Amino acid sequence: MQGIPQPSREEVLKLPRVHISTHPVMAHKMTLLRNKNTPPPQFYQLVKEIGALLAYESTETLSLESSTIETPLQSTTGYRLAGGIGVTPILRAGLGLAEGFRQVIPDVQVWHLGLRRDEETLQAMEYYNRLPHQVDLQVVYAVDPMLATGGSAIDAINILKRRGIPRLSYLGIIAAPYGLMRLAQAHPDIDIYVAELDEALNDNGYIIPGLGDAGDRQFGTF
Ligand code: URA
Repeated sequence: MQGIPQPSREEVLKLPRVHISTHPVMAHKMTLLRNKNTPPPQFYQLVKEIGALLAYESTETLSLESSTIETPLQSTTGYRLAGGIGVTPILRAGLGLAEGFRQVIPDVQVWHLGLRRDEETLQAMEYYNRLPHQVDLQVVYAVDPMLATGGSAIDAINILKRRGIPRLSYLGIIAAPYGLMRLAQAHPDIDIYVAELDEALNDNGYIIPGLGDAGDRQFGTF
């Protein structure tokens, strides 16, 4: 990132469809997650818990269908989430987040997506794609913990858009202003939910203060 200008936190906070958690439980878990002494099993557990909290926050505006149900005492109106919901973990770091999401909405469809950048063409290469051909969902959430340069997130949303899903969102744990700005500009029609917004990217493309490599820390591959 040497020599590449990066926007400030204040600039990206003005973006219309960006949601940054303000929940104290999230802040508590984020501090445990960032700590370099948190070992992989606890780190993975925290990623799942943060995924569950993000799922709860990001599904606030989903549509409901009503129906009449019987309680043990009488009839009443009940509600269920309308349409189907999909979650796309961007491999491999998105796996823990997707698992946490599933704990909140167990019948979510999980569409795995593995992306790699072709260094010459800079095009997204899909090395793994389990997106179904038959699509009947109200919303799909692309999940990847670290929104750094935004490249994979932009590519993933492009791929999901080609499937014709009516509503798309991105869910991440930490965003750098640079990646957040790029994603919001490339896809102004999606909502972006993150637990925290950090300062910047360093020369190696890592988010600072960040948490290091989210994949390595989940899976113990240092
Ligand atoms: N990916 C990571 O895992 N960490 C970063 O800081 C940036 C990208």
